[in-house]
Amino acid sequence: MKVLKFGGTSVGSAERIRHVASLVQSRGKNIIVLSAMSGTTNALVEISDYLYKKNYTGAKETINLLESKYLKTIASLYDYHESREKALKEIKACFNYIRSFAREPFTQAEEKIILAQGEIMSVAMMSILLNERGLNAEPLPALDYMKTGENGEPDFNYITMHLGSLLDKYCDADIYVTQGFICRNSVGEIDNLERGGSDYTASIIGAAIDADEVQIWTDIDGMHNNDPRFVEGTDPVGQLHYEEAAELAYFGAKILHPTCVLPAKVNNIPVRLLNTMQPEAHGTIIDSEIGMPCIKAVAAKDNVIAIKIKSSRMLMAYGFLSKVFETFERYKTPVDMVATSEVGVSLTVDSERHLIEIVDELKKFGTVTVDRDMVIVCVVGNLEWTNTGFETQALEALRDIPVRMISYGGSNYNISFLIRREDKIAALNRLSDCLFKNKK
Ligand code: ADP
Ligand code: ASP
Ligand code: MG
Repeated sequence: MKVLKFGGTSVGSAERIRHVASLVQSRGKNIIVLSAMSGTTNALVEISDYLYKKNYTGAKETINLLESKYLKTIASLYDYHESREKALKEIKACFNYIRSFAREPFTQAEEKIILAQGEIMSVAMMSILLNERGLNAEPLPALDYMKTGENGEPDFNYITMHLGSLLDKYCDADIYVTQGFICRNSVGEIDNLERGGSDYTASIIGAAIDADEVQIWTDIDGMHNNDPRFVEGTDPVGQLHYEEAAELAYFGAKILHPTCVLPAKVNNIPVRLLNTMQPEAHGTIIDSEIGMPCIKAVAAKDNVIAIKIKSSRMLMAYGFLSKVFETFERYKTPVDMVATSEVGVSLTVDSERHLIEIVDELKKFGTVTVDRDMVIVCVVGNLEWTNTGFETQALEALRDIPVRMISYGGSNYNISFLIRREDKIAALNRLSDCLFKNKK
């Protein structure tokens, strides 16, 4: 059995939903994971924002606008009147439920319930469509099996057991359809796996059922060798090792949610990135093959903050670095890049949260400076250090760009450069020209 996940743009209109139905119809008894239609989760966040602010007119106008988009979609989605009526009933019930929160007080738990409705509506509409086409499509409610534990991580025992019993119960089904993104937390409240988290749902399910493959269907033909939003003429990468994919996803390749790689890697399940609009394209396969030494792709992560702690007296004394890192640990703030020298240490974080407190504490150990609006550009591939030349090629490409920090050797798979935000597009394009286009 395979897990096929379709993102927001893949189910973004009646035409797209019908296309996905045709795609999955011919691919056997699999589990289909769906995101909300594109724009929906953003609209639900906006509705919640109005509700927090007690602006019920703003909330209701946004609800009405979103509802009319769904009603229009349903009007052209089905061939039969009965299907249309059934879908209308389910979707209207969802919107009336959302409207019922337009009162005080509005809590975070209620916001999570509202955010869950997008994926719930996608699954309702798709299941009815597949049934109309003669398939016994079984909706699997994610809220009945997808759960996180106290640490916020997926509770794999619970998920495996509950998903397993649903699959047993509906063993006659031709195909299963389930919601991405949504789950319950450790106390059973409705929660989610964070924005873009449907990819994570797919790999968690893949791990729980030991799937043959996890497929992430989106609007592009696989992981490209550079960010197609900023660089023209990028090409899909045929194959990536799990670690390479994890580095690219973490450092900004939006096609894949960073959390998605781990469950697949641990269970050695191949992940394939495919294009809904071009299903015959090879896409990208992510597996445990290391492959030939080469640079495969580049990605960039925005909103990075660099912190420098300068202290000639302290650095060489043992215990200095551990005190610095303990500070970050106390504030549950992950550090991405690190560079040390005789007189100081520089590191980066990707969140302003607790920055003031962290800087305040670090001042005990040295002189602290902070640079905001930085970007990490990450060059990824099989870059094992005994293969010469890769770091030179990357540095040569960036010769005209001011580089604030470099990190190399943390793994065999990445070289990272910290640069200013305003240099990002130039850096990505320079890397593309030097690393990929000149080699064509
Ligand atoms: P979905 O809604 O299907 O989850 P996303 O918008 O999350 O889709 O991810 C697909 C988008 O990721 C693409 O449209 C593309 O613009 C962007 N993207 C960023 N970096 C890359 C990359 N290296 N390769 C492919 N796509 C990328
Ligand atoms: N619908 C959610 C979002 O927009 C989850 C996802 O699409 O993966 O973030
Ligand atoms: Mg996505």
